[in-house]
Amino acid sequence: MSSLDDKLYEKTVECPVCGNVFKVTAVKRKAYVVESRDTDFCVKYKDINPLFYDVWICQLCGYAAQKSTFSKITYKRSQLIKKHITPRWVAKKEPAVIEYEAAINKYKLALINAQISKAKDSEIAGICLKIAWLYRFMGKKENELHFLNHALNKYVDAFSKEKFPVENMDEATVMYLIAELYRRVGNFEESARWFNKVISQRGIPERILNLAREQWSLLREDLKNEKSKSQKNNDEVSEALK
Ligand SMILES: [Zn+2]
Repeated sequence: MSSLDDKLYEKTVECPVCGNVFKVTAVKRKAYVVESRDTDFCVKYKDINPLFYDVWICQLCGYAAQKSTFSKITYKRSQLIKKHITPRWVAKKEPAVIEYEAAINKYKLALINAQISKAKDSEIAGICLKIAWLYRFMGKKENELHFLNHALNKYVDAFSKEKFPVENMDEATVMYLIAELYRRVGNFEESARWFNKVISQRGIPERILNLAREQWSLLREDLKNEKSKSQKNNDEVSEALK
């Protein structure tokens, strides 16, 4: 834990559902040293994984959410937490050292809270995307794809229903993310449709345009490979039928 001591600190937060005041572990600004970035905005940091500290849980009432939305819960949603989560909640001691499994469990609790209290689609999408990233860090491909699919469906819903920005992303960024998630889950046709939408959009940020162009050319490779694979399968079938 000693190496983490200068990267983490404790801060006090108040639960917006029950008023409980408790401490959370937070990451110091200087600890955010980027190691690599994935094309779906997953960032790998040197020495620390901020996702481990991103979900806050109130041990008194069971309310859990990402720190970015924790205090923003509406009164109506907080009543749903009190009605459906709190009566079933059993307080647990948080592990001193957080690992992937513990982080995923925290996100899953935030996901249940968001679903039961009818959070916005974009909030649910954001939670699912982070769970997918944690599985990616663990090398669990199948679980990663499962949650990428969930995130994707919710972003598509958010795109048609919500006002921008959603989760700090503008319209073009969400369109790009949808296209990229379709590519990652292997739905190349929909991916192509959304990348086209992004690229033909006027006045989109340079960074997103460049990313979209790069991933679009990657997608073309995927499409080519898929075509030649299915061609090969057809050839094999014809060969076998001879
Ligand atoms: Zn609480």
